[in-house]
Amino acid sequence: MKVVVIGAGVIGVTTAWYLRQAGCEVTVLERHASAAEETSFANAGQVSPGYAAPWAAPGIPLKALKWLMSSHAPLRIHPDGSGFQLRWLAAMLANCIPGAYARNKGRMVALAEYSRDQLRELRQTLGLHYQERSLGTLQLLRTEAQMAAARRDAAILADLGVPHEVLDMDELETVEPALEPVAHKLVGGLRLPNDETGDCHLFTKRLEQLAQAAGVEFRYLVEVTRLGKQNGRISYVELDDGEALHPDAVVLACGSFSRQLALPLGLSLPVYPVKGYSLTIPLTDADAAPRSTVLDETYKVALTRFDDRLRVGGMAELMGYDHSLDPRRIDTLKMVARDLFPQAGDVDSGKPWSGLRPMTPDGTPLVCGTDIDNLYLNTGHGTLGWTMACGSARVLADLIQGRVPDIDAAGLALSRYQRRAQNADQLAPHDGEPAAA
Ligand SMILES: Cc1cc2nc3c(=O)[nH]c(=O)nc-3n(C[C@H](O)[C@H](O)[C@H](O)COP(=O)(O)OP(=O)(O)OC[C@H]3O[C@@H](n4cnc5c(N)ncnc54)[C@H](O)[C@@H]3O)c2cc1C
Repeated sequence: MKVVVIGAGVIGVTTAWYLRQAGCEVTVLERHASAAEETSFANAGQVSPGYAAPWAAPGIPLKALKWLMSSHAPLRIHPDGSGFQLRWLAAMLANCIPGAYARNKGRMVALAEYSRDQLRELRQTLGLHYQERSLGTLQLLRTEAQMAAARRDAAILADLGVPHEVLDMDELETVEPALEPVAHKLVGGLRLPNDETGDCHLFTKRLEQLAQAAGVEFRYLVEVTRLGKQNGRISYVELDDGEALHPDAVVLACGSFSRQLALPLGLSLPVYPVKGYSLTIPLTDADAAPRSTVLDETYKVALTRFDDRLRVGGMAELMGYDHSLDPRRIDTLKMVARDLFPQAGDVDSGKPWSGLRPMTPDGTPLVCGTDIDNLYLNTGHGTLGWTMACGSARVLADLIQGRVPDIDAAGLALSRYQRRAQNADQLAPHDGEPAAA
């Protein structure tokens, strides 16, 4: 079977890998000059099934209102002029009720746990290294109210069977000794010992090389401009130079840009670009840096240790396809880095970056076939694309091959939105779309 995968981010490259392993002839089409140049380039580095949860959670609408007034707020919403942004926000709000949250979280945790296990297997069988660490992740709590919320989260984690530890200050310093000088600012932490960390860009590049060696064709600097449909199937994939490919199956793995290619086919993918920022700081004193990821709950900023760098990432801005670097957001990342690990590195020489998370309103990705016979989706991984990449790719390769995936994939299908759209016309493809840059 000849399969075209569109997009060479972490999702496209892992998809190509598992499809090739299953015996497919795979071509990956990517408009950049190499793999992982967009959202998979400089994310926060967490492979974190323990934190797999939708942003659409009970209490978030109220928190969001408060954040809109705060200078270091993790969230900013700027109208992009499209009806899609409004419908997407409405659909997200509709998911902020306890029942929807529990259902969405259950789906995300199952996929994320499976994905981490697939990643471990790849690492072992391929000898793949990407500055990875298996030291867990740690949520830092600055107030008693956060500590109480963490205890509630711990109860949910216990129900889901996710190992976790609620830590007091002494235990916190044992796990992350570099926090000792700032201990007076903290009250405790929630640790997820089975979470991992690593550089997503390095991983994607290295897996791409192995996939090439295994026979996957990567074509760079080609943009897919159109998918042609005939008799309920994709009949051709049109490239910007006018060339047309005629594969047996097509996988859309274009991250935040998947919606644009699907809309002309009558498919309305509920994937919105949610901008995030990161700052990569070279370490000058490794002992003064975290050993793994710490997540500052107050500012929703994650700080992840790579070998000789500290990656600080966070923020959510809903403002269409805008990559601009707002200096106020970078200042927040610098402020948190200085506040928690003041001696670790030269914060001002850190490299700023922004990326567009491909988010669905319910936080769960789209890993599925579609009403179009040979068109498949692997997109919408939002905040957790690195965490969920290997599992999503393995599930999709199984679906394409007609095999039953190891985990239940029913909740990852687009049909969960199509049913709602038919009833409420919520995310239907008609009026103004944000213009893709
Ligand atoms: C600040 C920040 C921090 C994050 N931290 C984490 C984290 O700690 N852990 C985690 O699990 N996730 C994290 N994420 C999320 C994660 O990075 C994303 O979910 C993931 O990178 C999405 O991968 P992707 O392959 O779907 O998209 P991308 O990496 O964007 O890849 C899509 C590719 O498709 C290509 N493309 C698009 N359209 C076309 C076309 N028409 N023709 C050809 N090519 C096309 C693009 O050029 C791009 O290379 C973070 C994201 C951000 C922004």
